[in-house]
Amino acid sequence: MPATLIGVSASPGIVVGPAHLLRWEVPEVRARVIEPAEVDTEILRLRGAVEAAVERLRAVKARAEENAGVAEAAIFDVQIAILQDAELRARVETLVRQNLSAEKAFDLVMLEWREHFGRSANPMMRERVGDLVDVHIRLLSLLLDLPDHDPVGLAPGSNAILVTHDLTPSLTIQLDRRAIAGIATDAGTRTSHVAILARSLGLPAVVGLIDATSKLQTGDPVILDGTNGTLIPRPTTAVLAQFADRARREAAAHAELATLVDAEAIMTDGARVTLRANVDLPDEAVRAAESGAEGVGLMRTEFLVVGRAAMPSEEEQYEAYVRVIKAFVGQPVVIRTYDVGGDKLPIGGFPHEPNPFLGWRAIRMCLDEPELFKVQLRALLRAAVHGDVRIMLPLVVSVEEVRQARYLLQEAAAELSRRGVPHREDVPLGVMVETPAAAMSADSFVNDVAFFSIGTNDLVQYTLAVDRGNASLVTRYTPLHPAVLRLIARTVEVARSAKLEISVCGEMASQPLMAYALLGLGIRTLSVSASGIPALKRLVRGVSTSASAAAAAVALAAATPREAEQALRNGLVGELGEELLDGLLGLA
Ligand code: PEP
Ligand code: MG
Repeated sequence: MPATLIGVSASPGIVVGPAHLLRWEVPEVRARVIEPAEVDTEILRLRGAVEAAVERLRAVKARAEENAGVAEAAIFDVQIAILQDAELRARVETLVRQNLSAEKAFDLVMLEWREHFGRSANPMMRERVGDLVDVHIRLLSLLLDLPDHDPVGLAPGSNAILVTHDLTPSLTIQLDRRAIAGIATDAGTRTSHVAILARSLGLPAVVGLIDATSKLQTGDPVILDGTNGTLIPRPTTAVLAQFADRARREAAAHAELATLVDAEAIMTDGARVTLRANVDLPDEAVRAAESGAEGVGLMRTEFLVVGRAAMPSEEEQYEAYVRVIKAFVGQPVVIRTYDVGGDKLPIGGFPHEPNPFLGWRAIRMCLDEPELFKVQLRALLRAAVHGDVRIMLPLVVSVEEVRQARYLLQEAAAELSRRGVPHREDVPLGVMVETPAAAMSADSFVNDVAFFSIGTNDLVQYTLAVDRGNASLVTRYTPLHPAVLRLIARTVEVARSAKLEISVCGEMASQPLMAYALLGLGIRTLSVSASGIPALKRLVRGVSTSASAAAAAVALAAATPREAEQALRNGLVGELGEELLDGLLGLA
């Protein structure tokens, strides 16, 4: 039996199924010169492959329409148009007439085009690079007769474990959720896009496996243990039985936690905690409400943009927001404005930047593209008529950004008034505290914002200078680092003295020791993915204000993340007992 592959737990749950390898990367093409007499046949072979690729893309598009929607699937029309482009065809055929093989000719032209589009000053052209890459891979795979790795080919009920290097947006929208039981990727970490998406979809996932794609074949039976972050290829019957037993125990633990759905999140001394859901796709809102969430603490809106050929219209956004708001009648729904950039890229990508996480992203992009931003702001102000909507700005470093955003919000409201469209003007505007700059200067924001929400995923990344998506740095990504805890404590202090609402919506809130630290630091509103709410509620109901504060004080004064962790563990064992703590750690 091959050794267990160890990765990072991205989304809990144990599943057993056949591996489905998805190698979405440009294959290597060896130079091959053809004889003059072969040219005509080679051109026919090229045209045949283009036709086959177009046909395949039509099927992919139909499937994406079912899975993700008509607008999202329109991206595949762009790819079909590229394949049918007369200039592209003429250029490739010219090279074939100069005795290059069809695959080499196509490869060279695609490299040229990708380079040319990528350097263009026109953002529309740059956005097409991702489509070119997809077309490049698809046609070469056909010309080289490589196995067809499209996830689209999987029949519903296949129970497949998708094994891939990374899950790009264009692959994500092709996924048929009825065919896939779990996701395993070489790249990624707990806070990367693929992990967040898997948790949203409730699909067990292990990321950061480094080289799973080179160790497995399609069809290999595997056990994916999303809870512990492992992947076991070709398990023996004895191992299968062990895992079946564990899966049963996990299911029983979940069933027990589900009984808490209507219980209050109240600490043992009576302190009330508010648990909200992070919602990444409007589809999840109802499930989130059923999990016992008291509102939405973070609705990410990138999923309206990522994997799309064009920005969504005001109407389409309005409808998406209203769907979420209607699932949470009478409860707050915090909607974050576009946080595109970094690891959340639209299909064509962004302008190439050497350092995208420090680049033109999130609020920076929105303020520089006010017309595009105002479409979102108008949709939000209109949606706010239906509930308790709050708008949250990501990646803020200075209060000036808030002021500029507020100015655009006022313009958006004025535009709606001129159009006579119903909307609300008094929507609270808050910020994510996810940069050390925002945390250190939190006091300078208090007169301009209605709330703070600490985004620990990025706060940890920017404080420790550790890329949150880099699987090889996982052990260095330590949310319990004293620098992080001190920034959080400082922000809580500022919020408390200014009487501003403060919450945490990053991943820290979903991990028991870290949630305990946050409670101990005085946070009383936590937002996590819906699947994490029951376990978090169980934890909250077993701990007290005084003991959590005492443990957090020790953690705060600790010199290392390990010492902080130990202090929190000791505190939690004292409050919950070892068995319950281990159970909750196992489910996180
Ligand atoms: C965060 O940074 O903590 C956060 C919640 O936002 P995201 O993971 O979308 O960057
Ligand atoms: Mg963030």
